Amino acid sequence: MNFDTVIIGGGLAGLLCGITLTARGQRVAIVSRGRSALSFSSGSLDLLSHLPNGEAVTDLHAGLARLADLAPMHPYALLGPERVIEYAREAQRLLANSGLVMQGHIEKPHFRVTPLGRVRPAWLSPQEVPVAPSPGVHVGIIGIEGFLDFQPALAAAGLRRLGVTATAHEMSLPALDILRDNPSEFRAVTIARVLDDEAQFAPLCDALHALSQEHDVLWLPACFGLTDNRVWTRLNEALPGKVQLLPTLPPSVFGMRMQTLLQRQFIKNGGIWLPGDEVLNTTVSAGRVNALWTRRHEDIPLRPRHVVLASGSFFSNGLIAERQGIREAVLGLEVQQPERGNWTRDDLFAAQPWQHAGVRTDNTLRGWQNGERLENLYVAGSVLGGFDAITQGCGGGVCAVTALHTARQICAREDLQ
Ligand SMILES: Cc1cc2nc3c(=O)[nH]c(=O)nc-3n(C[C@H](O)[C@H](O)[C@H](O)COP(=O)(O)OP(=O)(O)OC[C@H]3O[C@@H](n4cnc5c(N)ncnc54)[C@H](O)[C@@H]3O)c2cc1C
Repeated sequence: MNFDTVIIGGGLAGLLCGITLTARGQRVAIVSRGRSALSFSSGSLDLLSHLPNGEAVTDLHAGLARLADLAPMHPYALLGPERVIEYAREAQRLLANSGLVMQGHIEKPHFRVTPLGRVRPAWLSPQEVPVAPSPGVHVGIIGIEGFLDFQPALAAAGLRRLGVTATAHEMSLPALDILRDNPSEFRAVTIARVLDDEAQFAPLCDALHALSQEHDVLWLPACFGLTDNRVWTRLNEALPGKVQLLPTLPPSVFGMRMQTLLQRQFIKNGGIWLPGDEVLNTTVSAGRVNALWTRRHEDIPLRPRHVVLASGSFFSNGLIAERQGIREAVLGLEVQQPERGNWTRDDLFAAQPWQHAGVRTDNTLRGWQNGERLENLYVAGSVLGGFDAITQGCGGGVCAVTALHTARQICAREDLQ
């Protein structure tokens, strides 16, 4: 099977790259083994909230410029500030064109409220997510009876520490009783499958009406809206006060919505989506990857002109930590990593050196295998090294920016506009 490009991994990075390439007319396949990190994420994307020295980034241009000195192997430093900003803007357009209605923009981080009632800087958040409320606003935080993945009292206590007037309540929805029989079924995504049903809108509205009259705004766990914000929009029209949604513990409705809509856009563009398959082996000769061998296609290889490795970090087994060191799982690419004895720091909440581990590339984002740069192999997303997604608040941004950079280069080599 011949392709212009095969992408290994269908998370945020693989999908953004695939959508861009298919929009330029390329024949692209994405092979993706399992659920991506999106299903476990907040649904908000970070771009760069902190520098490696811990300073908060208030001016993105200045922050990006300082990365060259502070973290020269950071993917943003390899690409340079102008390109990072250009790709971040392009990613905003691409997400919007795929049907994702997000708030926020690159020049100004907003402060989204977390389920613990704290605020966190973010680049883009789903439209439904609350940002830090103005003083004097009375927030009602509404849990769902029996739903343990969102604790309204915890969120309210956190908000009160920030000086916000917040009261915790619970609502009971009889339609969810059937899920309560099995606690492992009582999760945000399974609840959403019930509440997204048209028939449940009136009971949901009834359960919230009196509470809405007592507060300026109600914050609910994000337990509806798996593919769009229709229920949320209708609630805001039907109730006297405003309604906003907080992300829950995974699986995440906002993250799964992003995954679903990006997948749909890729397929709509003509992309070939191969879920539940995995690349087991590759044939490399003369510095090029010529064939990919997958579990399902057995002895029929995928033959691409270009390959994008977007297989994720440790979480998705794109990187594997072993006694001797950290390795990249598919092609055995060279990995930048701290000395074996220095992977961790004792303080659990300190920046952890292992977070920086990942594939080493140059500014073309091509990887090295046995000392040789592979000419048609690009690397994008969280399998890359040189950054700390948690303490630098840059995980989603690195994925988007590097995905678009790889796509841009493949297009340039193919002479596509
Ligand atoms: C739990 C978690 C929560 C996060 N939350 C946020 C957040 O809220 N905001 C934020 O900005 N960032 C967040 N991040 C950072 C995150 O890394 C990125 O936002 C992003 O979603 C990662 O995308 P990715 O495409 O690089 O990798 P992934 O999403 O990990 O996707 C990689 C995909 O490749 C597949 N794969 C791996 N190996 C193979 C193979 N051999 N063959 C075929 N397929 C393969 C995997 O199954 C997976 O589907 C989070 C990270 C984690 C781990």
